[in-house]
Amino acid sequence: MSLDASKLTITKTTNSKTPLPKEQLVFGKTFTDHMLEVEWTAENGWGAPKISPYHALSLDPASSVFHYSFELFEGMKAYRDTHGKIRTFRPDKNMARMNRSAKRAALPQFEGDELLKCIDELLKVDEKFIPEGYGYSLYLRPTLIGTTSSLGVAKPDRALLFVIASPVGPYFSGGFKPVSLQATDYAVRAWPGGVGEYKLGANYVSCIEPQSVAATKGHSQNLWLFGEEGYITEVGAMNFFIVFQKDGKKELVTSPLDGTILPGVTRDSTLALAKARLDSSWEVNERKITIHEVQERAAKGEVVEAFGTGTAAIVSPISNIEFHGADIAIPVVGGTAGELTQQIEKWIREIQYGDVEFEDWSRVIV
Ligand SMILES: *Cc1c(COP(=O)(O)O)cnc(C)c1O
Repeated sequence: MSLDASKLTITKTTNSKTPLPKEQLVFGKTFTDHMLEVEWTAENGWGAPKISPYHALSLDPASSVFHYSFELFEGMKAYRDTHGKIRTFRPDKNMARMNRSAKRAALPQFEGDELLKCIDELLKVDEKFIPEGYGYSLYLRPTLIGTTSSLGVAKPDRALLFVIASPVGPYFSGGFKPVSLQATDYAVRAWPGGVGEYKLGANYVSCIEPQSVAATKGHSQNLWLFGEEGYITEVGAMNFFIVFQKDGKKELVTSPLDGTILPGVTRDSTLALAKARLDSSWEVNERKITIHEVQERAAKGEVVEAFGTGTAAIVSPISNIEFHGADIAIPVVGGTAGELTQQIEKWIREIQYGDVEFEDWSRVIV
């Protein structure tokens, strides 16, 4: 059976929580009253989706998720616009990506449109947890796990898709705060033919220890390099963008989707808006870029700004990249974020909060 939103059942909590005051919101720490679940079996396909009070899962210790990392997820947000309406941002992209991840992880694919309808209902039920104001949103975490209780190394014949939701405040409260990155080549996040382009939990577990090492030197994230050439891939939870300037021409560059890079929705949105709205003094390119190019051109004064993109912060300005013990200072002209960094943040935010419509990027729920 296919995933069918018309079969959704809703059981509301009898013990509703009071949403935290906005100032106390911490990313991913507190959740709404309800969650969405859909079970799948190889025999019967997708079962009836259900929304019920947020609860712990009960799983057999032999479940495949615990042993062979049959797990993938999405990260998306719901926003309350200035008219009080609830919106999600390009959620079809998240559904398509989740299905690509599912296929690669030998987990079942599903009808993305139908899951979105169920998510809409979850948002209506938990509406009071969607905070108001720019930068505030409800973070949604669709997750798919293999639940076959067997240690046999095989495609799971049981799975659970669930969605939980966490109210969040601005990533940068009190204005942008530029980040320092450590360009890392002693460990590798992803490689050609690997799974770096899928949003699997397994891509994260190997990155946390190197991130702690970077943190001991005052860096907030790793900039993952690949190969002897020192290709810049991405930041691990953010895609990487840099602006070069030479002879009055500006170039916005990000690494191409060569299989080692997560195809971020914010990355795609940044490229689309930059191509649509920047003037002819700009070039927008997806091309390979090495840490050496950045180092050499920064020394010549040709680096204008750099930033990471992702759903959590939209953009994160980058002020420094340490590579093999040497600091590459990245200018942050225009205050705490470069001019284009600020422009991109504004362009995307205006669409997310419904102040500006762009193509069909914003989905109005109620
Ligand atoms: C989720 C993620 C991103 C950002 O993707 P968005 O869709 O823009 O949020 C970037 N890199 C990795 C590894 C990710 O998992």
